[in-house]
Amino acid sequence: MKPAPFQYVAAKSVDDAIALLSKYGADAKLIAGGQSLVPMMNFRLARPEWLIDINRIDGLAGITQQNGMLRIGSLTRYSELEASEAVQRGVPLLRQMLPHIAHEAIRNRGTIGGSICHADPAAEMPVAMLALDATFELRGPSGARRVAADDFFLGQMTTGIEADEVLVAIKIPETKNDERHGFSEFARRRGDFALASAAVVLRFNGGMISDHVRIAVGGLSERAERARKAEALLAGKTLTPTLIEEAAHTASGEVQAGQDLHATEAYRRSLIATQVKQALAVAADRTSSTGAKK
Ligand SMILES: Cc1cc2nc3c(=O)[nH]c(=O)nc-3n(C[C@H](O)[C@H](O)[C@H](O)COP(=O)(O)OP(=O)(O)OC[C@H]3O[C@@H](n4cnc5c(N)ncnc54)[C@H](O)[C@@H]3O)c2cc1C
Repeated sequence: MKPAPFQYVAAKSVDDAIALLSKYGADAKLIAGGQSLVPMMNFRLARPEWLIDINRIDGLAGITQQNGMLRIGSLTRYSELEASEAVQRGVPLLRQMLPHIAHEAIRNRGTIGGSICHADPAAEMPVAMLALDATFELRGPSGARRVAADDFFLGQMTTGIEADEVLVAIKIPETKNDERHGFSEFARRRGDFALASAAVVLRFNGGMISDHVRIAVGGLSERAERARKAEALLAGKTLTPTLIEEAAHTASGEVQAGQDLHATEAYRRSLIATQVKQALAVAADRTSSTGAKK
């Protein structure tokens, strides 16, 4: 199918994009990589009257390191993140997750900001953002504000961004030496959206897991979600195969996992348990988790 007729305007700056969003209101949509918005328009699931192109805004893409944080411009393409040494070194979990998103052609266009704002419950990026404790810099007519990933994903394709705001950048704390992490997903075919995915970050204090434990799960019915009971179960303990089993079981029981065309609820919960278990097993193996020698 072809999209319904629309008008196109290229924003020259973030302020210009905000002014255009304010002017056209609910009739307008920003377009970044177009890899989610254009299919939705083709299926007539989205019918914006105005497309505001943010691709020509200088400074909206790019990766910089600042005070132990990686600042990633919202227009940064997945392929740029994949190729970035700063990402590989600073936030290896993100690098580990990226090849699971779609295919190379889509990763050449799709942007980190587009995926976060689209907030597909099956997408990998929101899962990684929750596990990595990311913060989002938003700008609108009344100025800038920061929202933690924990407070941003509200429901199926629903986020805390206002209709006249632009996601400008994503800030992610760089991985600490005492941190281990893992990502795992199950999809029917390579490149498909996940039926279930999990990202974990565990910080260690000596041989024990500290209270910094993050388990995020995706492929759910509403939104990517943290498995907080499973996180609490791990805090302060030694990571053993039995504890991994228990945490995976707890996580799969606590998150929202409804039935849909792709999976029954029971099947999805079983997939979640497996993905959490595998992500924790990766984290348990220091070599694959951090690149460091055991
Ligand atoms: C065949 C196919 C397979 C795919 N498989 C996967 C997959 O396995 N996993 C996965 O996660 N994704 C997958 N995708 C989606 C892909 O990752 C998209 O690139 C991503 O979801 C959206 O990024 P985008 O830059 O293309 O955003 P767009 O499509 O341009 O925009 C998406 C939404 O975000 C809004 N938006 C974009 N940028 C901003 C901003 N800076 N501020 C505020 N709002 C903004 C837009 O208005 C729109 O509502 C697939 C897509 C295709 C076509």
